Amino acid sequence: MNILVLNCGSSSAKFAVLDPQTGLEHLTGIAQRIGSPEASLDWNHGGTKHSKPLHGADHGQALREAVALLRALGLEESLGGVGHRVVHGGSLFSASTLITPEVVAQVQACIPLGPLHNPPNLLGIALAGELLPHLPQVAVFDTAFHQTMPPRAYLYPVPLEWLEQHAVRRYGFHGTSHRYVSAKAQEMLNLAANEGCILTAHLGNGCSATAVKNGQSVDTTMGLTPLEGLVMGTRSGSVDPALIGHMTRATGLSADAVLDLLNKKSGLLGLSGLSNDMRALEQAADQGHQRAQIALEVFCYVLARQLAGLVVGLGRLDALVFTGGIGENSVLIRQKVLHLLGFLGLELDDQANAQAVRGRAGRITHSLRPQALVVPTKEELMIAADTALLVQAS
Ligand code: AMP
Repeated sequence: MNILVLNCGSSSAKFAVLDPQTGLEHLTGIAQRIGSPEASLDWNHGGTKHSKPLHGADHGQALREAVALLRALGLEESLGGVGHRVVHGGSLFSASTLITPEVVAQVQACIPLGPLHNPPNLLGIALAGELLPHLPQVAVFDTAFHQTMPPRAYLYPVPLEWLEQHAVRRYGFHGTSHRYVSAKAQEMLNLAANEGCILTAHLGNGCSATAVKNGQSVDTTMGLTPLEGLVMGTRSGSVDPALIGHMTRATGLSADAVLDLLNKKSGLLGLSGLSNDMRALEQAADQGHQRAQIALEVFCYVLARQLAGLVVGLGRLDALVFTGGIGENSVLIRQKVLHLLGFLGLELDDQANAQAVRGRAGRITHSLRPQALVVPTKEELMIAADTALLVQAS
């Protein structure tokens, strides 16, 4: 049985047809720039890349094309279910779930918490229901893995009434990735599923780190929204909240406009003035670009500082895991961060670090306890596996 995995965003929809047991990907693709004249459907089948213009297609037209494609490739009959990435499940979901009208209503209730992500996620669910009505659908939440955090980690020190009245608390994101790579690290360390004190650093365009104790998330860097925590591609991560008031008074911009700048024009892009792309920044820094150098310094320092802070929730450190585009590929960032964290007993193995790139997993320290690992994340596989499990159980 194969699973169709769907990640429906505001202007793009990623899809994949894969075998949840072997991880074999029969088809991967993305509808990009949905709603614009440059909209396109790009896919990879059998190792060959293809592209087709969609000329201003909306989400419905784009997904209809994607379903027509998997039909044309003879993949529809093999499908056992559709797994959706859903960003915000609030406090309502602590695990993946079969989608029912009640679940849809609950995801709708979480829209105030995830105003940018939950509406397109819900659109994807509605469209998949229309286009593939015979298939069961499953929601896999970015927030679910972090529902095990204790109050001391998820509460903000603000009036406690805000929690009850406005759901103000820390939720955490990238849960599917943190869950997958921490479980892989347990395997690599010969630990059982309920053992180990592991830090996971998911470093992509969005970045977050999580403290996983005995298989459960006990703290994480992202909060009410994915803006909190580490320095990211275009997001600032944690800043003094009074900065928003200061900037509205200083510039005349609205609070929403300043928040938009913290989300879209800050982080690596804002510091460097050049790019949000780590590869471009490494190259520029190497050529002497000072703002790129500063951006890398701040990125690594904030990351190391927050990782060290997360160890408090663990009480001990067995392993630090790097994943995501940067974590899986940047030899330089891993080297800088491990250098800053040397006091924890992490001793970098330069040769192993240089080799752990482009999907290769492995230990990159001489030290064994604690050790640093590179583990390529597989969020699609996790979504497919959860979907298959729930479909079979039903
Ligand atoms: P993701 O969101 O997980 O796809 O990660 C995207 C980020 O990974 C971007 O900042 C890329 O520049 C970065 N990245 C990918 N490959 C490399 C590499 N070889 N070296 C440094 N950064 C990389």
